[in-house]
Amino acid sequence: MIESPLLEKLTGYIGGQWIEDAPGDTFDVYNPATGDVIAQVASLSEANVQAAVEAGKSALRLTEPYSIDTRKKWLEDIRDALKANKEEVGRILCMEHGKPLQEAQGEVDYAAGFFDYCAKHVQALDAHELPDKARGCSWTVHYRPIGVAGLITPWNFPIGMIAKKLSAALAAGCPSVIKPASETPLTMIALFSLLDKHVDLPEGMVNLVMGKASVIGKVLCESPDVPMLSFTGSTEVGRKLILDTAEQVKKLALELGGNAPFIVFDDADLDAAADNLIANKFRGGGQTCVCANRIFVHEAVADAFGEKLAERVAKMTVGNGINGDVDIGPLINKAGFDKVKRHLEDALDKGADLVAGKSPQDLGDGLFFPPTVVTGVTRDMCCYREETFGPLVPMALFRTEEEVIDAGNDTEFGLASYVFTNDAKRAQRVAAGLRFGHCGWNTGTGPTPEAPFGGMKASGIGREGGLEGLFEFVEAQTVPRGF
Ligand code: ADP
Repeated sequence: MIESPLLEKLTGYIGGQWIEDAPGDTFDVYNPATGDVIAQVASLSEANVQAAVEAGKSALRLTEPYSIDTRKKWLEDIRDALKANKEEVGRILCMEHGKPLQEAQGEVDYAAGFFDYCAKHVQALDAHELPDKARGCSWTVHYRPIGVAGLITPWNFPIGMIAKKLSAALAAGCPSVIKPASETPLTMIALFSLLDKHVDLPEGMVNLVMGKASVIGKVLCESPDVPMLSFTGSTEVGRKLILDTAEQVKKLALELGGNAPFIVFDDADLDAAADNLIANKFRGGGQTCVCANRIFVHEAVADAFGEKLAERVAKMTVGNGINGDVDIGPLINKAGFDKVKRHLEDALDKGADLVAGKSPQDLGDGLFFPPTVVTGVTRDMCCYREETFGPLVPMALFRTEEEVIDAGNDTEFGLASYVFTNDAKRAQRVAAGLRFGHCGWNTGTGPTPEAPFGGMKASGIGREGGLEGLFEFVEAQTVPRGF
């Protein structure tokens, strides 16, 4: 079992305190590197979730809103608490997610960056005046908190994803009811320990509920006191949330699946492209929605690029992330491992070639999947059509710019994309043609606190990060006043 001063209570947090009388039901949390159960966390009841919504409601202030300064202070204190506890939060994150320790601790810094950004820009949510001489009145535009927000997060960035949502919700003055993924609740519990000890939040401003997604999701979707859900996860669940909230016309912010194209033109710096692909593709073991999923390489440089990639992959190490000296940890669970294996088998069956990695029959037991590169990928293969969510690099060839834009867009998804070329005009044309919310030019960098990030098409609705993300949890209200 995991021991930590940040994991004293494994229940839930409602109305400014840990739940003392949680139901007896629990769920197990595993360390994917060892298969060991490291904690048993309370699985809350519908009544608990309703109590969390009530607590949130009691913290919502409309007629006398929390001042900008108060909100700024909350955000700064959370940033500072995360930074001061980066090592311990990162250790917990590493143990339940599996990503290498340094990467896990880096994610805590990344999360702190979102609170920092919102603290620095919360002033933008202050009201402003629009003079209107023609009509003889003056308009005040207010940014009102939308209300209690349900924040639902996935397991792949246990602290990063909640940071994006919670920073913007608090900046807006919105209380929240937070549900982490059942694979990684411990990092969230650690965050709540820090909030409890170090941040002077009003009771009910932040509430933590864990347990069955169906039970929690039902209350959040059906309660008229929760006007907004911010969700990151699969497109399948995102669609369900759209349907389940349609009756009440709730506001939804959805960051859903991706199928990122990574395009390498023949004039690109191939070493830089290979380095960026490695950093992008193997982050979190390939289990991120911005990981390159289809690598399109111009036919003139395909062999050279494939060799550079294979050289780099051969040097990568896979193992228990807590040891600190590995590049890739385990996949999150057996279902995740089996999916990557199925994609590899399917690609090889349909004619792809294995350039680096192991054949499916040599993969063995456990959740460690070696970095794997296949070439000759075609659009009928699963690894082309679906998000693999693992360390499999599928390479396909292309000849023309037009062809590769069409191929890149040949997916229902539109989250992240990448283009490597030294021709600025071409980069601009390709970025404009790709229907993706993010298009890295000569970089595999993903979302940052300063830039709005989100999906087009079935990859979602809304943006996180940047001023656009800051404005997600407010509703503009205009108050025109006659002279
Ligand atoms: P992933 O592939 O990351 O597991 P999911 O979409 O299955 O993606 O889950 C993302 C988050 O959404 C998790 O916290 C999960 O428990 C939660 N979730 C799954 N189903 C529902 C639902 N019906 N209502 C609300 N939350 C849900």
